[in-house]
Amino acid sequence: MQAKEILKNMKPYKPGKQIEEVKEEYGLDRIVKLASNENPFGFSSQVKEQLPALINQLEKYPDGYSAALRKKMASFLNVKGEQLIFGNGSDEIVQIICRTFLEAGANTVMATPTFPQYRHNALIEGAEVREVPLQNGHHDIEAMLDQIDERTRVLWLCTPNNPTGVHMTESEVKLVLSSVPSHVLVVIDEAYYEYMDADNRFESLADLNNYENLIVLRTFSKAYGLAGLRIGYGVASPSIIQTLEPAREPFNTSTIAQAAAILALDDQSFINESIASNKKSKEELFKFLEENDIEYYPSQANFVLIHLPISGDEMFEHLLSKGFIVRSGEALGLPQSIRLTIGKEEDMYVIQKEIKEKIQSVTT
Ligand SMILES: *Cc1c(COP(=O)(O)O)cnc(C)c1O
Repeated sequence: MQAKEILKNMKPYKPGKQIEEVKEEYGLDRIVKLASNENPFGFSSQVKEQLPALINQLEKYPDGYSAALRKKMASFLNVKGEQLIFGNGSDEIVQIICRTFLEAGANTVMATPTFPQYRHNALIEGAEVREVPLQNGHHDIEAMLDQIDERTRVLWLCTPNNPTGVHMTESEVKLVLSSVPSHVLVVIDEAYYEYMDADNRFESLADLNNYENLIVLRTFSKAYGLAGLRIGYGVASPSIIQTLEPAREPFNTSTIAQAAAILALDDQSFINESIASNKKSKEELFKFLEENDIEYYPSQANFVLIHLPISGDEMFEHLLSKGFIVRSGEALGLPQSIRLTIGKEEDMYVIQKEIKEKIQSVTT
């Protein structure tokens, strides 16, 4: 047997620690997972109430065109139905984009660190990956544009960026869009769109029709709280969507995920409450970090990357023993950092206390 050469050097995705695993290992009853940027308030109660009714007709294949969700989403976003593609999470849209546009001899440009799936899928397709280090948590636009040549097929922008939480301003994104040659597809990954509230943010969908080579990715996994159902989407011109569609599996999103997404969209009050709580707890966290001289990136998302005076792994282990799962920056090449999802107010209070105590015990 012979697999693609590139796969020999690649590792499967390493997920954050699972709750049951930690409970057993540390003999704890309650675990708070702040590792994968899920919504601490779960998802809309309207989805929960109607879930039992959604299990009818599971013997039938889902609607491969997601017609009902497409109609709902198009009117919610004020775009045409032909401008949408749905995926088994936006992860799958990343994969579809790579399958469609990348191959040996082509290259793709992205920031580093950023969401790892762009690189991962690009490598599997045989493309050259050109990574441009962030500057102070920001995409280095000039340097990214410099990396583009006639073989560049896709440019990735992640805003707010995972793992820094830093967003791109309207003028930054517009500079990119007006500078890239038309043979380059620009992907704007807005997995945390709902949380962004900076006045200078880029409103991608308002501007979508001005750019032929732009696709915007969003998801139901983060603010909508439906990560377990796996549903995300891309918005672009009808011609980009037509180009991508043959690379999409015919029944890639499930019947339940499509129906739940429709119900979730109808409950905007759940989203608004989640956003308001996130904002309040995030501001309290910023205040705590400043009071304790701990550096952080000003996040526009529901997570914060914190720079520590000790190793990220050491803090990770300490917080784990207290029942909090966070992400150590080690795997991201940021060994003195942790990435922390904003949780419920009461849990944030406890984790802040634990962070402070750990730092004091090590540094004094
Ligand atoms: C979580 C995340 C995704 C993936 O979300 P799914 O829709 O669950 O696949 C995509 N991009 C970024 C930046 C993310 O953080």
